[in-house]
Amino acid sequence: MLDSVRVRLTFWYTTVLALVLILVAAVTYFIYSRNSRQRTDSDLVELSDAFLTTLQAELKDQPGPDSLKTAGMEAILEHRFRDHIFILLDASGRPVVSSWDLPAAAPLDRFTLDKALEGISSPRSVHPSFRPGSEFISLRGGRNGYRGFSRKIPLDDQLCTVIALQSLHAREEMLEDIRATFAWTIPLALLLASAGGYFLARKSLAPVVAMSSQAGRIGAANLHERLAVHNERDELGQLSKSFNSLLDRLSESFERQRCFMADASHELRTPVAILRGEAEVALSQQARSLEEYRESLGVLHHEAERLTHIVEDLFTLTRADAGQYPLQPHDFYFEELVGECVHSARTLALAKKISLNFQEAPESPMRADESLLRRMILNLLDNAIKYTPAGGQVTVTCRRAADEYVLSITDTGGGISADLQPRIFERFFRADKARSRAENDGGGAGLGLSISRWIAEAHHGRLELTRSDPHGSTFTAYLPVAPFPPATSD
Ligand code: ADP
Repeated sequence: MLDSVRVRLTFWYTTVLALVLILVAAVTYFIYSRNSRQRTDSDLVELSDAFLTTLQAELKDQPGPDSLKTAGMEAILEHRFRDHIFILLDASGRPVVSSWDLPAAAPLDRFTLDKALEGISSPRSVHPSFRPGSEFISLRGGRNGYRGFSRKIPLDDQLCTVIALQSLHAREEMLEDIRATFAWTIPLALLLASAGGYFLARKSLAPVVAMSSQAGRIGAANLHERLAVHNERDELGQLSKSFNSLLDRLSESFERQRCFMADASHELRTPVAILRGEAEVALSQQARSLEEYRESLGVLHHEAERLTHIVEDLFTLTRADAGQYPLQPHDFYFEELVGECVHSARTLALAKKISLNFQEAPESPMRADESLLRRMILNLLDNAIKYTPAGGQVTVTCRRAADEYVLSITDTGGGISADLQPRIFERFFRADKARSRAENDGGGAGLGLSISRWIAEAHHGRLELTRSDPHGSTFTAYLPVAPFPPATSD
């Protein structure tokens, strides 16, 4: 059950609310109880003052042997309040007169004078007295005990004690009422709040539930569907937007993958068809000359090479996409590598009567994946020779600019039209499909430049077409001098 966010939210909300309510109730109860106790004490002091004033006045009016008792009785009669008891003790601590002596004012409960006296001689709770000879006392007895104020005062030539007691029954009843009120209001409030909390949690999570079921229905077949965004500014709107942009990226990647597969199978189909056709023709003819067999085998070999080339390129790109192509950095001289590549391409250039020039470059030490960079340079040289007509010229330069080596390969070919230039690094893109395939020795599938760009980027550099017009093109690779940390020698 706690697996549901709604239930968990409600549970935590109710628990926190319960703690807050209990704390508030406890603090309220404590403050109220303390205040009412202070009020009782100040009432007692006032009452005791008033009683004493009356007692002293009565004493003046009634001289005689029993004057203290008579005056006390008169004062008690005058201050006869419900729940209040007055006791007057003589110097030896014996009661002279008390509220119990009034015939009609029988004690309001079973509180006994003996207990009162006992309490006074050993008070249970004594406040720091604010007048000399006076103190507050708390007594058990009656229904809820008594609070008293006792004070010593010289009366009739002796040090008498006047005690005013107030029953705590009314106060306790009030506190009991408060406790009872809290006892039912807190659970009721919690019940209502948890029901409301559950309702709110349910309501606010409803869009999430709707989103999740909508998202659950989206699959490869309907990847174009998107979640509804009700309010772009709230959190759920943001979540829907993020989810939708994730779907955008996914569907883009799906689309790219689909195109890649379609293009790849299309590119593979041609050499495979040629292979099959050529083999079928060779096999179908009974009597063929050795020369004819050699020719057929030559075609088969050429197409097999082309196929191998395409499959290798595809494999490289797939591993590069998955981030699984392991780079193997070595220390070497970049200008030497360029020189070697130019040397390898010389035969190809000679065959096409193209002059291939490599301008002397300064020493360029580097730590990088040499074989990948070789592949990139050969791709660029191969293209430059391939797309330059006979008698043309290909120039290779290599220089250092700040922290990078800049390799430029310039040809005097026909260039790439401006509208196609942004697409030449796309996979399987060929500006002129018929020509590039016909003239291509190894069989270009339009993957060379995308692989070359990936190689430059894998070395934290970039490959750009820096110029292309009807007089020729220039491809420039910018490679950091230190794309990888130096090798550590153990
Ligand atoms: P391909 O195997 O067809 O050469 P690439 O990815 O190497 O594939 O090149 C993509 C396309 O870019 C080529 O088909 C060609 O149209 C164009 N291209 C590449 N290099 C040059 C160049 N030096 N001059 C003119 N066009 C070029």
